[in-house]
Amino acid sequence: MKTIIEPFKIKTVEPIYFTTESERETKLKDAGNNLFGLKGKDVIIDLLTDSGTSAMSAQQWAGILNGDESYAGSESFYRFEAIIKKIMGFKHVIPTHQGRAAEKILFSIVGGPDTIIPNNTHFDTTRANIEFSGAKAVDLLNKDGKNPSLIADFKGNMDTELLEAFLKENHEKVPLVMLTITNNSGGGQPVSMQNIKEVRAICKKYNKPMFLDACRFAENAYFIKIREKGFENKSILEICQEMFSYADGMTMSAKKDALVNIGGFLALNDDTLAMESRNVLVVTEGFPTYGGLAGRDLEAIAIGLEEILDEAYLQYRIRTISYLGEKLTEAGVPILLPTGGHAVYIDAASFCKHIPAEEFPGQAIACALYLKGGIRSCEIGSVMFGKKDENGKHIAPDLELVRLAFPRRVYTQSHIDYVAEVILEVFEEKEKLKGYKITQEPPFLRHFTASFEEIA
Ligand SMILES: *Cc1c(COP(=O)(O)O)cnc(C)c1O
Repeated sequence: MKTIIEPFKIKTVEPIYFTTESERETKLKDAGNNLFGLKGKDVIIDLLTDSGTSAMSAQQWAGILNGDESYAGSESFYRFEAIIKKIMGFKHVIPTHQGRAAEKILFSIVGGPDTIIPNNTHFDTTRANIEFSGAKAVDLLNKDGKNPSLIADFKGNMDTELLEAFLKENHEKVPLVMLTITNNSGGGQPVSMQNIKEVRAICKKYNKPMFLDACRFAENAYFIKIREKGFENKSILEICQEMFSYADGMTMSAKKDALVNIGGFLALNDDTLAMESRNVLVVTEGFPTYGGLAGRDLEAIAIGLEEILDEAYLQYRIRTISYLGEKLTEAGVPILLPTGGHAVYIDAASFCKHIPAEEFPGQAIACALYLKGGIRSCEIGSVMFGKKDENGKHIAPDLELVRLAFPRRVYTQSHIDYVAEVILEVFEEKEKLKGYKITQEPPFLRHFTASFEEIA
């Protein structure tokens, strides 16, 4: 059949609360025009993030009851460790309360002043943890990935020529190379097996470990299966096993492709680094068999990691994203093409040509989508990644995007039809949108807590 249906039935429901446009105006103002400041119940469709927002399965909820809460040596930990070893194959598995805790542990050991960590594109928490350690974070995204309207299969790839040149010059300062699959900040675009292999070969040449930021490993594997020659008949598990076989370690937010609401881990092969990591873990997270998690969380992750490998789920997942993408593209809304694994990204610079980067075109669109239809999205552009030079002049990132991230197994097709309708209405009146200025901001990850004012 041509219709791809949700491969699940709904067993438990949660109400959506409806607000009027004028109520939303007040709520947004009270939140300092920052969508992170809104209460969840004041949002109709929440596409702020796909992180920790998944609907768990009946099996996972059963696992929650079955969780073993032993402080040391929990059965749930051994199930968690076993599935990670089966899919990812690393020798050491270190649970953490979420992905950034794994990053914090890793970079507090290998980072620090005078070190540089390259990546295809660093995610915001990865970059923040690297910079917090005193190290520098460098993005080496391939050229295609910087062109939002170009259709290509693997726009998340690392530019291997740049990586080679970079390591030639800086190898003494580089403790490891990261590769983010799929490339979240680069638009949820996949990385090909070929690229993973090439990055691996370059790392080998310079004797550098390669770590995967593997939050969306299953979505990446699905794209490899449908787009890369030679993988069409392989199972998702086999593709995952091959991807991880080229890496020396990984960081993971279980809030993404482990289908849970909290959790993460660090996994790696090196014994010394694992010992040092566990030393930090016991101080900041907890004992090595629970990290920052309850036994029940480990249990739910173990089950989620099995469920995410289901091809029917991944097909529905990727199709939901492309379905919204097609509706927007047909109506002329500029989006990052092709659509990626977990989100549709509006190309805010093309959508609002009249708003310059330093006036945050993405923020203008994100606020408008909330006011019009109660949709919460996330700016990924000058608010999140903008910098200032010595003279206080704004340095814009490569892309100005608004991300509509899809929680896993939460919304149905009619929710997505509604989202499309709201975006099209805002698009029709795009000339009326105004830029924003920041009135207050913290030193790190400013997008979470900054306040904004509309520029009159
Ligand atoms: C979400 C995410 C992280 C951080 O994980 P948290 O669980 O939110 O701390 C790191 N890298 C990527 C690519 C992510 O998407």
